[in-house]
Amino acid sequence: MADLPPLTSRDRRALRTQVLNGLIEVDAQIVALTRSFDDIVAASEDSNVDDEHDPEGTTIAFERQQVAALLRQAKVDREALLVARDHVEQPSYGVCEYCRGFIGVERLLALPAATRCIACAS
Ligand SMILES: [Zn+2]
Repeated sequence: MADLPPLTSRDRRALRTQVLNGLIEVDAQIVALTRSFDDIVAASEDSNVDDEHDPEGTTIAFERQQVAALLRQAKVDREALLVARDHVEQPSYGVCEYCRGFIGVERLLALPAATRCIACAS
């Protein structure tokens, strides 16, 4: 049997809480970003600006891209947290997927969806 990460049941409870809090946060972020995105789209439709030539249109297009990028990232984070939510109950949670070493409690508490140790992640 492979070495299991030295996580105590208290560590696991704390990590599970981190994952669930992370999900609540990212859900709120997705709601807020979706609202901003819709507002930007509505604003650009209202003003009927020409994205190509109107300087304001360029700003709106830029903002829209920024919000879209943040929204994409939030959805990626959410997927990772959903995987972590199931994984945190498994004995293998906390094992680096790359070197099979222990990711470390500190790192997991900061990044509960981390699947690699700090050495392998960089
Ligand atoms: Zn590693």
